[in-house]
Amino acid sequence: MQMVSTLADLRAARLALPGTAGLIPTMGYLHEGHISLARRARAECDSVIASIFVNPAQFAPNEDLAKYPRNLERDLQLLESAGVDLVWTPTPEGMYPPGFSTWVEVEGLTRPLEGAARPGHFRGVTTVVTKLFSAVQPERAYFGQKDAQQAAVIRKMVRDLDFPIEIIVGPTVREADGLAMSSRNAYLNAEERKAATVLFNALSAAQQAYQHGERDGDVLRGILRHVIDLQPLARMQYVSAADYDTLEELQTLTGKTLLSMAVFIGQTRLIDNFVLG
Ligand code: AMP
Repeated sequence: MQMVSTLADLRAARLALPGTAGLIPTMGYLHEGHISLARRARAECDSVIASIFVNPAQFAPNEDLAKYPRNLERDLQLLESAGVDLVWTPTPEGMYPPGFSTWVEVEGLTRPLEGAARPGHFRGVTTVVTKLFSAVQPERAYFGQKDAQQAAVIRKMVRDLDFPIEIIVGPTVREADGLAMSSRNAYLNAEERKAATVLFNALSAAQQAYQHGERDGDVLRGILRHVIDLQPLARMQYVSAADYDTLEELQTLTGKTLLSMAVFIGQTRLIDNFVLG
């Protein structure tokens, strides 16, 4: 497995890779969620490239950029055992040199949910992903359903900007008790880690109601809110039952629906979602 940091080295290494290329963009501190995407890319592409970059542009000033967990040595071991060929670890200065002033912005889909809770977040995501795509020029790029709105926004951007890249979205990988794997789970102490199952439990409760025929959006959002309210360490930021394609809140569920939420467990902000229908 080769490792590069500068754009010039990345370009040279990319040119030497054979056949179709699959890219897995990550912020590092890897877990089975990331590795499942790498393994899928390994099975579907001739060459596999992973990027590790904690992208400052997608963090607001009050967010956790400085303390975001990092462990490059372990990440490299995991990527190597997943069969990755090339790892790109750009630097913030390389990605955003002094005077950088060009941004990619997807309208509409970025307004609700994570976009409303984290102003500027998606502009940072779409800009960095555009730069990763333009440098690596993969045939396929792999993202996780864990970040459902992000996947939808990237798909839209690729369509709107005519990137010749197939976007593949892998299922959310969970711990045994249902907690969605996330690099941010490392922030949780033992008590918070137990409380963090409330996201999965709330989604499961709403899904069960849906399976018993409940189609009222307010009732389903109410179930999510109620389960979260019962957990003293949890503070809800938003709950949503939205149209899967437009992400608009639904009064009545008819087609494919995204149930999603952002919840603070102590100081740690976690997100999760289920797809219904
Ligand atoms: P991140 O390092 O958090 O930016 O995540 C990099 C990629 O891995 C994104 O496409 C995420 O959606 C995906 N990912 C993160 N957590 C999971 C998970 N638990 N299951 C599946 N994919 C995930």
